[in-house]
Amino acid sequence: MLKLAERVIMLKPSASIAAKKMVTELEAAGRTILDFTIGEPDLPTPPHIVEAAISAMRNGDTHYTASAGTPALREAVARKVAREKGLACKAENVVIGCGAKQLIYEAFATTVEASVEVIVPAPYWVSYPDIVGLQGGRPVIVTADAEDDFKLTPAALEAAITPATRWLVLNAPNNPTGVFYSREELTALAGVLRRYPHVWIMTDEIYENLFYEGERSPSIVEVAPDLAERSLLISGVSKAYAMTGWRVGYAVGPKPLIDAMTKLLSQSTTCPSSISQAAAVAALDGDQSCIDEATALYRKRRDRMVELLKQAPGLEVRAPSGAFYLYPCVAGLIGKTTPAGKVLKSDTDVALYLLEAANVAVVDGSAYGLSPYIRFSFATGMETIEQGCVNVVTACGALFANETR
Ligand code: PMP
Repeated sequence: MLKLAERVIMLKPSASIAAKKMVTELEAAGRTILDFTIGEPDLPTPPHIVEAAISAMRNGDTHYTASAGTPALREAVARKVAREKGLACKAENVVIGCGAKQLIYEAFATTVEASVEVIVPAPYWVSYPDIVGLQGGRPVIVTADAEDDFKLTPAALEAAITPATRWLVLNAPNNPTGVFYSREELTALAGVLRRYPHVWIMTDEIYENLFYEGERSPSIVEVAPDLAERSLLISGVSKAYAMTGWRVGYAVGPKPLIDAMTKLLSQSTTCPSSISQAAAVAALDGDQSCIDEATALYRKRRDRMVELLKQAPGLEVRAPSGAFYLYPCVAGLIGKTTPAGKVLKSDTDVALYLLEAANVAVVDGSAYGLSPYIRFSFATGMETIEQGCVNVVTACGALFANETR
């Protein structure tokens, strides 16, 4: 076997992708699994977007593009960001990548090295700490627990900043909790950040269009435009337009950083697919009613799931304001004995129990840096939701029935 690099030996696979892979293997072995693992819309990509891709192929738009992306897509992103966030943004401030994930990777690969610290509030999307670690940097995890509504407080932010801090990662609406910050909360965080001009802000807004109450999630760059000169906004078309497989994301920030990331992209992927980029232009510039329709559907699923899971003894469920995940606390199940005689010691044990007893696949909270919780994605069909939640209620009930025997 070829000797692997130490940094790859040390790397964990993405927990949500690993969970999805396990579901696929169990299904291949004949089990029927109610799958709540993966954060990807089950809806089809809207037809006008698919048509734009077909036209691109027919028109010979099938070659390498510039490494930063096509001018048409960079301009469409700049227009969207200027329109929605009120930022003075030009195409030169935009770089396109193969998904938001690649741009998060490229941003850290461009700026993080040994002795660099990156503040990551927990619960966090699984990949940030691992990507930072892969560059030799140190993720500094700051827990934002349920009492703070899973949000980073200004005091916790200030306490975590050191001279070695290079980035603060903000992700709102958040994966896995669905929470997002109010304008006042962002203003308070911005107040701290103004005192530390060496700290840059990565604002991952991939779920920006998916919200279920009131106003959309505000961005720190609209609330504090003076911080835009040290912010990198990350977003993409995967979640809002059901385009996860097309692999198009974008990053918006100061030109020197965008240029450095583009140089790295020119030595890795060269560019994202020309066809996917043409489709993404149609997504951003086209009719936006598909987002409203998707949001209405997710809202129904969210409400139904909350209603059903509230009946599960030992689960503490909150309705998320955005994204498409539920992150119930399972503290009430820890220490319980399963009908098979196993004591549940962690959220990983709870997730395995639900898989065995309820045929329900979820991801354990330990993957997101805050336990004991489990994550359910509700970007899945209503039938799966109905059956899956009924099974979870029964399986949780069995833990309590067992206790009184
Ligand atoms: N950021 C967050 C918070 C995510 O949840 C995801 C996808 N699960 C991504 C980034 C990556 O999205 P993509 O690469 O599909 O654009």
